[in-house]
Amino acid sequence: MTKAIRVYETGGPDVLKWEDVEVGDPGAGEVRLRHTAIGLNYIEVYQRTGLYKINDFPAIIGSEAGGVIEAVGDGVSDFKVGDRVAYAMNIGAYSEERTIGTGKLIHIPGSIDDQVAGGMLLQGMTAYYLLHRTYKVKAGDTILIYAAAGGVGLIMCQWAKHLGATVIGCVGSKEKAALVKANGCDHAILYRDENVPERVKEITGGKGVPVVYDSIGKDTFNNSLDCLSPFGLMVTFGNATGPVEPLALGILAGKGSLYVTRPTLATHTATRELLDECANALIGAIEGGQVKIAVNQTYPLAEAAKAHADLEARKTTGSSVLLP
Ligand code: NDP
Repeated sequence: MTKAIRVYETGGPDVLKWEDVEVGDPGAGEVRLRHTAIGLNYIEVYQRTGLYKINDFPAIIGSEAGGVIEAVGDGVSDFKVGDRVAYAMNIGAYSEERTIGTGKLIHIPGSIDDQVAGGMLLQGMTAYYLLHRTYKVKAGDTILIYAAAGGVGLIMCQWAKHLGATVIGCVGSKEKAALVKANGCDHAILYRDENVPERVKEITGGKGVPVVYDSIGKDTFNNSLDCLSPFGLMVTFGNATGPVEPLALGILAGKGSLYVTRPTLATHTATRELLDECANALIGAIEGGQVKIAVNQTYPLAEAAKAHADLEARKTTGSSVLLP
């Protein structure tokens, strides 16, 4: 018997229940993993509220964790008992132990501690694919990143700065502005108080930016389009204020032959080759010192409801982990 956070229905943080669950032996191609740290991601708020559908209740939510392999099933050759591993994009992470197929597992080097291992992959691989695959950020680009002080955001700011970009970060408070400036942002915009397109035009001498990374969604989408230079790319990758409304495509012509994409880490890590590319790049950036994963909040796993409430109230910065 082990403990996990389960949901029986969608709703507020109070639907997260701390319960006994059975974890069986690993099946063929699986391992049993004892979690040492579990990443907290905004995606789990969407799982809890029903924005991202869960088909079978009760369900253990959660998307990523790190831990130690306790047992291996038939046919597993790349992983053995005692290995430190982590994974992302695999529902069921809010648990002390679980079984999981090896297809999503990444070996964790000794240079990376347990809390970073448990909380780095989902946000860090997202930062990687956004900056290197969705739009290839290069030296001299000026780019705009929303929720810059958050988990994905703080990693993106550091990495983009290392790539030689001028980074503009949108944040919700003066304290967050100071934090992003200490992590690679050249300019911080208080996006709920200031006119973002005007500030971006001011910073770029009227040109606008070639790419906007917007995870806020519904409330900021239209303003984000107005920050782009002609042929610019609008990357809408999250829904913190709700999903973006359907778009009349003619608007893109009027604003300068713009492009729009709605990417997801699921596609960018869909094959072992892609997953290894993203994970190796992240581990390399951490070991090389280009990116530091700031685990700024920790919570007991049993208090996942408090962690969700803090995340939704915008109280967190950087990354957060739940400790079993
Ligand atoms: P964050 O740590 O960035 O937390 C969310 C932040 O969003 C808050 O701190 C807050 O920052 C801002 N925010 C704006 N409006 C709201 C609101 N109404 N309620 C709560 N927060 C709000 O979370 P993550 O790093 O885990 O994720 C960031 C975003 O990236 C999420 O939207 C997530 O869905 C998305 N994502 C997308 C992926 C993809 O592949 N498409 C993969 C991973 C994450 P502030 O105070 O500065 O406004």
